Amino acid sequence: MPAPEREIYLLSPKQYSPETIAVAFAKTSRSPESFREIAADLNDEQSAQFHEKWVVGYGHASVAEHAVLHIAIENASRLAMEAIESNRLASYTEKSTRYQKWNPDAFHIPAELERHPLREEYIATCRMLFKTYQKSLEPVRNLVEQQSPRRENESEEAWDRRIRSQYVDSCRFLLPAAALANVGMTVNGRALENAIRKWRSHGLAEVRSIGETVKAVAQSEIPTLVKYAEPVEYLIETSKELASISKQKNAESTISDDFCTLVDYDPEGERKVLAAALYRYGNMNYQQALQTVQAADTSTLAQTLLSRLGRFDTPVRELEHTAYTFDLVMDQGAYAEFKRHRMMTQTPQLQTAALGYITPRRIVEAGLGEEYRCAMERAAELWHKINAFNPLVAQYIVPNGFNRRVLATFNLREAYAFCQLRAAPNAHFSIRRIAQRIAEEIRRVHPLLSQFMRLPNESWQDIEKGYFA
Ligand SMILES: Cc1cc2nc3c(=O)[nH]c(=O)nc-3n(C[C@H](O)[C@H](O)[C@H](O)COP(=O)(O)OP(=O)(O)OC[C@H]3O[C@@H](n4cnc5c(N)ncnc54)[C@H](O)[C@@H]3O)c2cc1C
Repeated sequence: MPAPEREIYLLSPKQYSPETIAVAFAKTSRSPESFREIAADLNDEQSAQFHEKWVVGYGHASVAEHAVLHIAIENASRLAMEAIESNRLASYTEKSTRYQKWNPDAFHIPAELERHPLREEYIATCRMLFKTYQKSLEPVRNLVEQQSPRRENESEEAWDRRIRSQYVDSCRFLLPAAALANVGMTVNGRALENAIRKWRSHGLAEVRSIGETVKAVAQSEIPTLVKYAEPVEYLIETSKELASISKQKNAESTISDDFCTLVDYDPEGERKVLAAALYRYGNMNYQQALQTVQAADTSTLAQTLLSRLGRFDTPVRELEHTAYTFDLVMDQGAYAEFKRHRMMTQTPQLQTAALGYITPRRIVEAGLGEEYRCAMERAAELWHKINAFNPLVAQYIVPNGFNRRVLATFNLREAYAFCQLRAAPNAHFSIRRIAQRIAEEIRRVHPLLSQFMRLPNESWQDIEKGYFA
């Protein structure tokens, strides 16, 4: 009998529900039938029963990864976006602070401030920040127009598109974390259940409410897979207790720290990566591979491993065998972009007004330095007041220009992806500065394997001089 022919086809979500697709895939584990045949025999009720038994009952949770949803979330604060986007195994596209402008009422008023004496001041401060943002757009645009004049035959719209990110990039520092945005999220059932559990355990009412709504919305498509997505006592209690221990140990916040400290790396990291690469293509054990590298010309080996990398190529996975931990201080605008690098392990602290703020050079050059300073300081004053009773809620009033700390651990492969993408000339200057500095630190400790990163000829000091006042 001839071997059966290979078949490759889609199980279309237009034909089957996400839960049915997940069951059709799961059943191939025990059934000799084709996926088409399995799917044709299923209905929603049977699929739900299957998930109750296997995913929920026996803990075969990976089955839920085959059910995929596209969730549209509109008008959530950018603070809530952090919680939404903190799920590594999902995909997001969010309204951009670089390419869009914000209208003055587009901010969230937290439920925690309901009937609170600071509510009115909160609203007034948000309005003031949005007004200062709006007012700054025109003068900074005029400045950018002088620096990047309209080209011959360029339409007004094309010119605005070309320069928009340049002036909006400077003004966005005024927008508070309360600013509303939209995000599209693509996520599988397993990751979504976990996300809802986290959101429903969150310290902010807005995030908990988003968790409840997402659960309700998702249940229309995957009723069984998110059915048990409840708040998690472990997360709620642990975060409270750690916050209280950490508070007792609070150091005086200081802004004099270097903004980028490489706190941990493996001095043997390069040799380990090279050994892993030899291991992959040979049959030695790891110890032998390490000894081979010890005796080899590592520079030639590094060339072999990385010199053929093209602009759109990803280095081989073996670069994941060495990692770096950075203690970083960056403005919130940069962090909003940094946080999207899902292959990193990131531990951000709360948004704060205690670590100072950056002032973009163009704001000063446009004659708006004093207004900017006043706006930032008024926001900081209110942050102090709200922070005294609820540090989580106080974050809403913190504008993008304020600094925050984040601890980040990532491997050399992710360092390539991050540094190359975020040091590129079209990236925002704030994140370019971080990417160039991280690359510099890695080059210092692992020059052999980091020399192949494609980075523009711009130093982080150039960026500081050119863009920050
Ligand atoms: C020019 C530009 C404009 C942008 N504009 C916007 C915008 O308007 N709105 C917005 O929300 N974001 C925007 N972003 C951010 C962008 O969408 C990414 O979220 C961000 O750059 C992180 O990149 P990454 O996914 O490659 O990184 P990481 O998450 O760190 O991933 C590293 C690498 O792992 C792989 N990878 C990770 N996750 C997946 C996955 N789920 N599927 C497949 N491969 C994966 C990819 O190879 C990826 O390069 C913009 C980025 C750039 C560079």
